[in-house]
Amino acid sequence: MSTIHVISVSGGKDSLATLLIAMERCPAGSVVAIFCDTGNEHEQTYAYLDYLEQALGITIIRLKADFSRQLLVKRMFIARDVRTGRDKAGRRLRWSNKAKRRALSVMHPSGNPFLDLCMWKGRFPSRKAQFCTEELKRNMAVGYQLDLMEAGHRVISWQGVRRDESHNRRNAKKFERVGGGLRICRPIVEWTAAQVFAYSAARGLQPNPLHLQGMGRVGCMPCINCNKAELRQIATRFPQHLERIAEWEVLVSMCSKRGGSTFMADAHPGKDRRQVFADLNIWSRIEWSKTTRGGKQFNLLDATEHDGAGGCSSSYGLCEQAELESA
Ligand code: SF4
Repeated sequence: MSTIHVISVSGGKDSLATLLIAMERCPAGSVVAIFCDTGNEHEQTYAYLDYLEQALGITIIRLKADFSRQLLVKRMFIARDVRTGRDKAGRRLRWSNKAKRRALSVMHPSGNPFLDLCMWKGRFPSRKAQFCTEELKRNMAVGYQLDLMEAGHRVISWQGVRRDESHNRRNAKKFERVGGGLRICRPIVEWTAAQVFAYSAARGLQPNPLHLQGMGRVGCMPCINCNKAELRQIATRFPQHLERIAEWEVLVSMCSKRGGSTFMADAHPGKDRRQVFADLNIWSRIEWSKTTRGGKQFNLLDATEHDGAGGCSSSYGLCEQAELESA
């Protein structure tokens, strides 16, 4: 039984350092890099994966979820829905004819995993219901590893997780035995972000350019959890991605039984859904990102030419490093 080391590459700094460690420690030919494409990625991340393949002489296997079957089943369910009951809030369970027509007119596979997932669910994910990670990343990576195990391999899943990243990860273990021939290895669990960057730089690897453009993390563009400063950066540097999100908000809302869903906000029970959509759609969130103190006041500092999203503002102070290197 051979051992395969699977590294899930995101295009960010942590998974790159993890990949490099695995390549240095494991026998040649036993390391497999995978990338779970959410369909909500920045084009610079795709280009960066190509760069890594070339620089490291490897192939990064692209995995992409497909929700065609789920969308077909949901379409049939909506079309045939004749339920008579009501939910706990007293609303009719059955899709109204108007909502049926609206949803069925757009609920077709687009080929984009993120959009298709949201159309299938009739909503965007949220902090409390973060089904995007599960459906677009975790399930794809786990499915790939299960296939390897079924083919008779022992699998070690290498994860680029650091304890100082977030509260949730503060107790992450360095090694775990999951069972069934699967183990987990988190070699950089005790590292800082600076150590991670230094490790890759020492091996001659460039970071994803997004890290140099104010993006603390590389992942979806944007992520449903992106903070105010990141959203402001994205609005300034990559407005086309927010225009795409605005188009998705319209499509996903059409697939929602209640007729509304926004990218960066949970449901607000009791509030009129049209008002919620107007207050919390992506354009409103962008305006909010330009404010300070809970959104009531515009940030005057950012309006000056000396500061703000237009300048180099990497969260990790990499701008200086990049400038020195190119000098
Ligand atoms: S990066 Fe954000 S939006 Fe993308 S899958 Fe992860 S949590 Fe969801």
